[in-house]
Amino acid sequence: MTIEIQKLARKNILDLRSYSSARDEFEGNNGIFLDANENPFGELNRYPDPYQRKIKEKLSELNQIPTDNIFLGNGSDEVIDLAFRIFCEPKKNKVLTFSPTYGMYEVSANINDIELINLDLNDDFQIDLETLKPYLNDKNLKIIFICSPNNPTGNSFQNIKYIIENFSGIVFIDEAYIDFSPEESFRSQIKNYPNLIVSQTFSKAWGMASIRVGIAYTSKEIIKFYNKVKPPYNISQLNQDAIINTLTDENIQLVSENIILILNEKKQLIQKLEQLELINKIYPSDANFILIKVENADSVYQELVNQNVIVRNRNSVIKNCLRITVGSPEENKKLIQALQNINN
Ligand SMILES: *Cc1c(COP(=O)(O)O)cnc(C)c1O
Repeated sequence: MTIEIQKLARKNILDLRSYSSARDEFEGNNGIFLDANENPFGELNRYPDPYQRKIKEKLSELNQIPTDNIFLGNGSDEVIDLAFRIFCEPKKNKVLTFSPTYGMYEVSANINDIELINLDLNDDFQIDLETLKPYLNDKNLKIIFICSPNNPTGNSFQNIKYIIENFSGIVFIDEAYIDFSPEESFRSQIKNYPNLIVSQTFSKAWGMASIRVGIAYTSKEIIKFYNKVKPPYNISQLNQDAIINTLTDENIQLVSENIILILNEKKQLIQKLEQLELINKIYPSDANFILIKVENADSVYQELVNQNVIVRNRNSVIKNCLRITVGSPEENKKLIQALQNINN
């Protein structure tokens, strides 16, 4: 299957002449900068690098992926939204998701006035290929969103490869939780599939949700569209500096130790949860959270809130389910105590 990315993009984006910033037109570091109407005084007076080159060089080194296969967004949320704006013609094109999943795909679809096809996952929260197959040839279907490990169910999907190989639109794999998972990232597959976008984030395993930086690994053609459409200075210098500081060898070591710690806590938490009669089911998880089923999620949620423990009530999405993030050892202890108090 040969895929022409140019044909997938919207015509107005193909024709777009993007904003050319002062930092686009002159790239050096030395000189007297009188080109961007910046204030000559202060510490934060200069516009940041629009392409975040230092971060990309570091990520490139870490993951063995060329810098021009990397895009950075203001959170994955920007990476998702830009995909709509690049590929989806409002009121005409469609995207597809597997439900229940992360809510932003639907919100972004609605903002961009794009029809969303929502296919239910099966009882094991896996993708049912037979249900999907009839949609794969729809020329108006532009993007399939696959969240693996999936939020809020926690499991990884099995049929991703089949979808990539049998769909000629964009396959967007959201790997926000991949660093907690035993499964391998699809990041290294982007060289084989020009229509594959793999998104990751600094918000979860890297512990940097407050600074809003998401990553897309994809083909050079798609990266060009992303750079064309994004706001010129989409990541602030403060946030770029925070990422640079976190990408030191010492810190990377610390992050991987924390991942091990969180996974250990998850294991212990599951053992404790299994002993509680209140809980009917604990779903398998490859992420840093656990989905549980109880008799009455609304009341368990409220009883936890009353004890100052806040979990995510997913009752409206999956009947009687709560999503619990794995916290620190003390936090998890308090959660278990609070659940035991309900049980009694
Ligand atoms: C948390 C999460 C993200 C992260 O979004 P950011 O905008 O990068 O913070 C992305 N996708 C999924 C499925 C998530 O659960």
